[in-house]
Amino acid sequence: MKKKMLALSIATTLVSGSALAITPVHAAGNGPDVKGNETVQTAMLTTYDEMADFLKKEDARQDAMQLEVIGQSVKGRDLYLAKYITNPENPTILFLTQQHGNEAMTTEGALDYIKYLGSDSRKIQDMLKKVNILIVPMLNADGAMGDVNFPLDDYMASGRHLTRYNADRIDLNRDHVNKAAPETRALHEMVLSKYKVDYMIDFHHQGTQEDYYGKLTTGSILTPQNPDVDPQVALNSKKLATMLYQGIEPTGWSFILKYDEPSPNPNVASNAMALQYGISVMLFEMRGMADHSYEPYVLGQKSNGYIIKQAFLAMDSTAKAIADGTIKTADPAVYDKLPEQHYSYE
Ligand SMILES: [Zn+2]
Repeated sequence: MKKKMLALSIATTLVSGSALAITPVHAAGNGPDVKGNETVQTAMLTTYDEMADFLKKEDARQDAMQLEVIGQSVKGRDLYLAKYITNPENPTILFLTQQHGNEAMTTEGALDYIKYLGSDSRKIQDMLKKVNILIVPMLNADGAMGDVNFPLDDYMASGRHLTRYNADRIDLNRDHVNKAAPETRALHEMVLSKYKVDYMIDFHHQGTQEDYYGKLTTGSILTPQNPDVDPQVALNSKKLATMLYQGIEPTGWSFILKYDEPSPNPNVASNAMALQYGISVMLFEMRGMADHSYEPYVLGQKSNGYIIKQAFLAMDSTAKAIADGTIKTADPAVYDKLPEQHYSYE
């Protein structure tokens, strides 16, 4: 009951305080989904090979960046870690993308961010002196390329298919206790066990129709839900979520609420990293997937731009907040008070 009243009061605030209410055309966050009206093309998505080339080029170009191979996928693709470590004593944040291979814009955002970190800007170089940034893009490289040991014939996209699972049909984000997949093991053995990671964002995509009383969300966030997570880790996870929210919300086009399926499952990264390593972690779900057999999950390419930007801003706002220390004074209530999104698709 209390929850419902809170939700309603926030809804009122959103409507009365929002310019979107009088915007006649679709705001970006309400951009089109598939609904049978567009052919889903995946040709514009960065391929695994293009990503590998890009990372090697940036590694050669950027002094602050080090590129490391942390292992291989089932099909033998090298898995990469892009590291920015100026001082091991600095706080460290890890950005992980595409554990689910069909959740692709998160990697596009990560590659944009890597490029951005290589600019000559004094501001960026100063930031990198105060925070260590680890980026693992496209952990599920085989799923991202549709190079798997099971059929994807009923998937929607024309061109390359992308699937949630790894080549052996393992869901990597349910594998953080068993660590049965080589991709999961690489992440744990070569990144999580090797570096002192303080913060982490696990980037995903959800369906296209999550909303709040008719207004579609551009994304949703969730901190660890397992009751055994250390309270300080849980608190710092909320502060991380608050900094992300406050970094994206002012753009005007975003609409970020809480993820609507809170789960204590210790196999998912947003609980596992907190439980196993004491990392303050959050899940960030972007709207709509690049490919799927189930149409309401597929966003289509026309909305790619703002989703990529949303992933980029999530990385930039949280890294900055850790570097300048503002994360320490972040108000966890900003996150706590966000209502849960709905799932309205029938
Ligand atoms: Zn996912």
